Amino acid sequence: MILKSGYPFSLIKNGLVATYPKLEKNIRTEVVILGGGISGALMAYQLLLQGIACVIVDARSIGLGSTCASTSLLQYEIDTPLHKLADQIGENNAAKAYWLCREAIDTLAAIAAKIGFVDFQKRKSLYYAAARKDVPSLLKEFTSRKKHGFQVQYLSEKEARDKCGINAPAAILSKDGAQTDAYMFTHALHQFNIKKGLAVYDRTPIIKIRHDKNSVRLVAENGYELKCKKLVYATGYEVVQYIDKPIVKLHSTYATVSESLSAEKPFWKDNMLIWNTADPYLYLRTTRDNRILVGGRDEDFYSPGKRDALIQKKSKQLTRDFTKLFPHIMFAPEFSWTGTFGSTKDGLPYIGEYAKLPNSYFALGFGGNGITFSMIAAECIANSISGRNSDDLKLFSFNR
Ligand SMILES: Cc1cc2nc3c(=O)[nH]c(=O)nc-3n(C[C@H](O)[C@H](O)[C@H](O)COP(=O)(O)OP(=O)(O)OC[C@H]3O[C@@H](n4cnc5c(N)ncnc54)[C@H](O)[C@@H]3O)c2cc1C
Repeated sequence: MILKSGYPFSLIKNGLVATYPKLEKNIRTEVVILGGGISGALMAYQLLLQGIACVIVDARSIGLGSTCASTSLLQYEIDTPLHKLADQIGENNAAKAYWLCREAIDTLAAIAAKIGFVDFQKRKSLYYAAARKDVPSLLKEFTSRKKHGFQVQYLSEKEARDKCGINAPAAILSKDGAQTDAYMFTHALHQFNIKKGLAVYDRTPIIKIRHDKNSVRLVAENGYELKCKKLVYATGYEVVQYIDKPIVKLHSTYATVSESLSAEKPFWKDNMLIWNTADPYLYLRTTRDNRILVGGRDEDFYSPGKRDALIQKKSKQLTRDFTKLFPHIMFAPEFSWTGTFGSTKDGLPYIGEYAKLPNSYFALGFGGNGITFSMIAAECIANSISGRNSDDLKLFSFNR
């Protein structure tokens, strides 16, 4: 699957950060993690924390799946607003899912601090009404979030303009968001985990997987084999080849980053994360080297050829979207890229066991909150493998 094209900013900026070997021997271990992107890296971190031996194997060079294309906003606010999710799965479950995402941001911050990864910043998040017709729904969303204990403020049109410099009919200001660089975070996690005993193999496609009664056997393209008690699929969107249920709809998304601007003060109030109620939504953030990153303009198809042909057009559209919002900021796009994106029926990820494939778990953080979902997956799955029941898994089950 061609997961991304164009010039993903983190990959351009950082290049190949570290070299990992190919698998060139047979291996027996407790847990194999298939996929070494951000999901696999967090999974290994959590397993090692619980003293469980594991090995990562990836077909690509590490991070070159979706992870290097990520714009790395970390929000507890998932693609389905809380009040709408409550209609779909019940109020308590919806609030629980939102709170798990909220806690995942803190956990990610704590992990970044522990492994000495510095590109992680707490940020407020502003969710604004893209049109006047969206205001009643925004107000409902505010009421619902407030009721469930989230630190939010409702901003009228005047308050949005005065406090945040945004021209919008209304907005919700949330205290708890963050931003990072998923590609660099992934490498930092691998480097830390390797020192704790993890083996990471890349450029090693797995072409055959056999799920037995008490073990799983994986065969690599070069003939070497891995045998384990449990397998974790952290395969990102490519999981569609293993699951025979239509759990995810694949589409295409776009992002563009500006040239670095001189910035003695924030570009906008607190350089907060900004996104809106449009469908598809527009989102933006700033980078550590004073750029502005804008994303959105999604297309409803997965077709790499069609998707890639639109990069320049989408870059122009995203530039126009930004300029409409902040006419006084000169936005000169420097790098643009596109990637495959997946959405589920309720905006929630699929995490946990899949009955047809025994002795395995899935860590599938689909949607705009892929990274916070990866964090939740890593915690829940590590708990389950080490014998602790994780009730949270019910929310993300394949049977929901
Ligand atoms: C443009 C864009 C913007 C995004 N912005 C955000 C954002 O702001 N915030 C957010 O939270 N999320 C965002 N996401 C989503 C987020 O990037 C993904 O959820 C996340 O990167 C997925 O990581 P992963 O490790 O699960 O998958 P991947 O990074 O794709 O890693 C999976 C790995 O599995 C390997 N693999 C698969 N099958 C096999 C096999 N058979 N053998 C060996 N290896 C295999 C692949 O080679 C791949 O490297 C964005 C995504 C895109 C494309």
